Amino acid sequence: GGGVELVSDGVITTCTHLPYEPFQFQEGDEVVGFDVDVVDEIASDLGVEQEIVNIPFETIQSGEALNAGQCDVAAAGMTITDVREENMDFSTPYFDATQALLVPADSGISSAEDLDGLQLAVQSGTTGADYAAENIPGAELVTYEDLGLLLTAVQTGQVDAGINDNGVLLDFVADNPELAVTTEFDTGEQYGIGVRTGNTALLDQVDTTLERIREDGTYDEIYTEWFGS
Ligand code: GLN
Repeated sequence: GGGVELVSDGVITTCTHLPYEPFQFQEGDEVVGFDVDVVDEIASDLGVEQEIVNIPFETIQSGEALNAGQCDVAAAGMTITDVREENMDFSTPYFDATQALLVPADSGISSAEDLDGLQLAVQSGTTGADYAAENIPGAELVTYEDLGLLLTAVQTGQVDAGINDNGVLLDFVADNPELAVTTEFDTGEQYGIGVRTGNTALLDQVDTTLERIREDGTYDEIYTEWFGS
């Protein structure tokens, strides 16, 4: 409305990085998940369709993809950080997260100290990788490009443990009881949707939709769909 064209050609493009279940992942031919549903609400309020652009997380979190015009919004389970705020603008927070430790259930690893001399899988460009580098100095960090590779590395014993956001790891262990989440590090993170710096028209619409879905129950429905009650 108002004659301001927020997105082009009836489409809002979303930069994201797959797989990051249950926030965004492939199911058959479709990309589905919590973030996908949230951006579908933004699309619906704009009267357009959402199109997903799957690219490396590094180019999303650096702001490079938004600045290059690869997409209108970035929705990738992405934590709002001071450094990232310099390279894009963030919506109001839409999800809380903290770093967590994924280990074989029988490993006895349950703290950062237990990782002394062990191999810890981190995901490239993430807050988890930063946290491990700063706070788990005794571990040897092994970097993986995406969450799927990190999970497989822990599952197959290529590494001793992995660090990532609690939401994705708890989702994974629910179906893989041979693994466990034994510690959460209370990093107090919040996810935000990114837009190009200065794109206040679109940012305002994103925030308006986030407020609407909080108020009309849609957010709770989406939450229940992907995380249970
Ligand atoms: N929340 C973490 C971050 O922003 C991980 C996001 C992701 O891997 N998609 O770095």
